[in-house]
Amino acid sequence: AGTLYIVPTPIGNLGDLSPRAQQVLTDVAAIAAEDTRHSRQLLQQFAIQNEVFALHEHNERERAQAVIARLLAGDDLALISDAGTPLISDPGYVLVQQCRTAGVRVVALPGPCAITTALSAAGLPTDRFSFEGFLPAKPQQRRKVLTALLEEPRTMVFYESPHRILATLEDLAATIGPDRQMVMGRELTKQFETYLSGSIAEVMAQVQADSNQQRGEMVLMLAGATLVESDVDVATALRTVAILRQHLP
Ligand code: SAM
Repeated sequence: AGTLYIVPTPIGNLGDLSPRAQQVLTDVAAIAAEDTRHSRQLLQQFAIQNEVFALHEHNERERAQAVIARLLAGDDLALISDAGTPLISDPGYVLVQQCRTAGVRVVALPGPCAITTALSAAGLPTDRFSFEGFLPAKPQQRRKVLTALLEEPRTMVFYESPHRILATLEDLAATIGPDRQMVMGRELTKQFETYLSGSIAEVMAQVQADSNQQRGEMVLMLAGATLVESDVDVATALRTVAILRQHLP
């Protein structure tokens, strides 16, 4: 049987496609991609001419069995997403899970990922962290998720879209409180890469003051709660206020 290779692609800087990734993408029988047009452009830059077929969140479930049949027949295949590491807020989970069930070998290449890139430059504790993915788009649900994270002691990492960045920062201030330390990493590995750090209120003020900070791709990182015994009452009070806020207009 063949092997399914999980291949990370650049999150901005083309120099980040590793030599091994290039080799695998050249050698496999075909490449499953989230967006075939987008990925063909990337592959073209590396003169990789290979078969590319679509595997995205809308067809992953129905395509998985055909992909596995091809792997079982002996073809090596690669999975890529639009940017960064597949399966990290990207398609691939269903396929990999079914490969494991079918006994197909899965090999992941290490490579670009916005989480590790942002976290390693943020200056927040990294000994433990919690990846929270994208927050809900609806304000009510977003606040509910954030409120549940009030006492999380680990550094938290969120993916966010530029359309919601201001609303999310406001919700962070309202639920977690304006004083918690945070870092926002934007356009990582690209020309306008920026890190904003400080309290939630300070980062929010910088984003509000400069509309450029409301554009592009962004990762939010929030310091974990550092509760000492005497803070427990404060935490309870904050949680109560946060819950009450959810019920206010
Ligand atoms: N699989 C990707 C990875 O490994 O990071 C993530 C895919 S997810 C659909 C896209 C989100 O990742 C963006 O909305 C943003 O939050 C984050 N992201 C991706 N590239 C980024 C970059 N260059 N700078 C900052 N954030 C980025």
